[in-house]
Amino acid sequence: MPPMDAELIRGYLEFYQDLGIKTLYRRAGGTACPTTGQPEAVMTEERVAAETLPQILADIGDCRRCRLHEGRNKLVFGVGNPAAPLVFVGEGPGADEDAQGIPFVGRAGQLLTQMIENTAKREGIALTRADVYICNVVKCRPPENRTPEPDEMEICGQFLARQLAAIHPKAICVLGGTAARALTGHKEGVTKMRGKWFQWREVPVMVTYHPSYLLRPYNQDAKREAWEDLKKVLHFVYD
Ligand code: URA
Repeated sequence: MPPMDAELIRGYLEFYQDLGIKTLYRRAGGTACPTTGQPEAVMTEERVAAETLPQILADIGDCRRCRLHEGRNKLVFGVGNPAAPLVFVGEGPGADEDAQGIPFVGRAGQLLTQMIENTAKREGIALTRADVYICNVVKCRPPENRTPEPDEMEICGQFLARQLAAIHPKAICVLGGTAARALTGHKEGVTKMRGKWFQWREVPVMVTYHPSYLLRPYNQDAKREAWEDLKKVLHFVYD
């Protein structure tokens, strides 16, 4: 068998994961391929889990895999604790994020930070923004802040999946309908999905409103609901 590269191994692992196979075992040490004489690549969770966030970022590089690169100033990879038990996933960078290269730093980001820190404090959980990890489905700002197209989410989603696999959080909190549909595969609107648990691979996923929706003045009920959702996910992760 020819040596397998990382892409091929990932493909196999995802296939096995979809079949519900969670553990793969390394074949006894250093078997050489009978035809090439090269050591056979082995598919182990160990190898995939060994991928780090800096390695994924290096692989993204000066990405031109989709049209979103054309308007970008800075690629927005993600920020926070690389071993965070809780990851927040938004849709895609806005203007402030594109300028700074950091997710959720504009008005919606400031609200998200307050929501995380104030809710945690009120619930008796010692937690700051730096303790969680924050990223988006797409890493480049869509023009005029439009919703990312399915092909853009498909292309960039592989990097999100690798980030989540590297961090291996206890739970994920998705912000808004676009990210929720992208991550869970469910097609309902956010009002139907919010407050409920879904799954990404083995990881529980809580869906809530996007903070920019909460910034609109007439959304008092949604604010209260988002705080309820956040309390649920914080207690699940940190109790
Ligand atoms: N909205 C998002 O979905 N992500 C950001 O990083 C900022 C705003």
